Amino acid sequence: MATNLSAGKEPLAPTGEYPHLDAILRDDLFRPIVRMNAVGIPEFPMFIGGKWLYGERTMGVHTPIDGSVVAAVPQASEGLARAAVDAAVEARRAIRDIPGAKRVELFEKAARLLREHFPAFREALLLEAGKPHHDQEGETKAAVERMLYTRAEASHIYGDYLPGDWANDTLGKMALVIREPLGVLACITPFNYPLFIPTAKIAPALVAGNTVVAKSSSTTPLSLLLLARVLETAGFPPGSLNVATGAGAVVGETWVKDERVRMVSFTGSTEVGRRLHAIGGLKRFHLELGGKAHSMVYDDADVPMAAAKSVEGACKNAGQRCDAVSAVVVVQDVLEEFLEEAAQAAQKWKVGDPRRPETKMGPMISERAAARVEGLVAEATAGGAKVLTGGTRDGTYFSPTVLRDVTERMRVAREETFGPLVPVLAARDEEDALRIAQTTEYGLDSCVFTRSFERMWRAAKRIQCGEVTINDLPKHGIGHFPFGGRRESGLGREGIGYSIEEMTEPKTIVFNLGPR
Ligand code: NAP
Repeated sequence: MATNLSAGKEPLAPTGEYPHLDAILRDDLFRPIVRMNAVGIPEFPMFIGGKWLYGERTMGVHTPIDGSVVAAVPQASEGLARAAVDAAVEARRAIRDIPGAKRVELFEKAARLLREHFPAFREALLLEAGKPHHDQEGETKAAVERMLYTRAEASHIYGDYLPGDWANDTLGKMALVIREPLGVLACITPFNYPLFIPTAKIAPALVAGNTVVAKSSSTTPLSLLLLARVLETAGFPPGSLNVATGAGAVVGETWVKDERVRMVSFTGSTEVGRRLHAIGGLKRFHLELGGKAHSMVYDDADVPMAAAKSVEGACKNAGQRCDAVSAVVVVQDVLEEFLEEAAQAAQKWKVGDPRRPETKMGPMISERAAARVEGLVAEATAGGAKVLTGGTRDGTYFSPTVLRDVTERMRVAREETFGPLVPVLAARDEEDALRIAQTTEYGLDSCVFTRSFERMWRAAKRIQCGEVTINDLPKHGIGHFPFGGRRESGLGREGIGYSIEEMTEPKTIVFNLGPR
């Protein structure tokens, strides 16, 4: 097999023009809310109680393309974070008074607006998250689709009729179990899908009649602010959605500790999720946390397909996905074939400046994140693993990397990698592969490649995680299939209909029908 598949020598990082906001500033919907600060940086306000508020203190939004500052946003204080909750409490009545069908129409209008303003959203995703064209397109379209799905979701907000005559103590009675909104929800979201993840929380929350306080990662606050502008314009009442920017430890913690907030819907790291759960008290938690998806490749698999899909699972969004494939366990008999195919597949993932049309994989979110991945690779190679292709870093840019001779003890085999790494471990047989794939505390996703139905079924039943994918990479997509984690990967399920279930609570209404 070809073993000398080292990365090409072209630079990974961008060359050329300084990135700047352009589509957003030319857009009539967004231009009125952006002002230029004293040093000529576009400054965005927060959205609280239907008002756009600039901050006394601001923080820069650095693009991962080259580290330059492309915008500034406010750094909300605890007081402002509480003001967002005040506004959300105040607006509870207003949103509930809008009939369900009308709420759905508001989302349909918002979806149309989002589509009309695609260039601005794509620019936000390019600049704040470094997404190449294909990924910008995919995420904006997914956000539109998620909004349009609220019509289907609304059909899950029905209840039950329970006749009382099946138990002696309820004879002569009947009950209706209805689903009611919880009240104020806090939605706290990560950097990797800064438009889609907030949309996937805010849409079911509002359509179910809740009000929302939301914040995105401080590295990627712009997409959510643009989304708030769209929802405001679509006609959601003031205070129904409030968006604050600023440190999670200040804004997020203020919301999580606030007793008026009835649910926290959090997507992010296990470490932060655990902390929020510990400080939140008696409220509902929906936690979408880290993952460590193993891809298992058996000796009867379509090996080229398994290699291409495993590499795609590892490299999509520069590996910064909770559902990323972050270790591949290959049965010995097909190991060499898999490695050759995987190395070739990885080399097709062209990494570079996301503004270039040919780029398939852009930068990682920060130099720190890329250096962490570099450290994982260095530690693995020091322990005996070999780099088949990739393994190079240029600032925030990390080349797609296939590692062979990875052992179970290496961190790269056990931890969430969150970078474009394909660590390959050898297994003796199916049983050994199943054992290795369970040596993780996470329990979000895994996938298996085999042609045998019995083996598919065995893997699906044995692997302890929220979603097992057969003959494909794990993909949460827009949530048509529900997803969520076990153990260190979190609590609850997200997805069309499933989110609504989490964001409403049942109320039992008992009717005494009198003596028969
Ligand atoms: P993160 O560091 O945990 O941050 C997530 C959010 O939490 C951000 O908005 C952050 O705000 C906020 N935050 C941080 N510290 C906080 C605190 N003490 N109190 C309240 N909020 C706080 O995660 P990330 O690096 O952005 O995202 C990567 C992680 O998300 C990975 O582990 C990935 O697996 C996970 N993820 C999971 C799923 C899923 O569906 N299971 C999906 C996507 C991502 P600041 O930025 O302002 O600190």
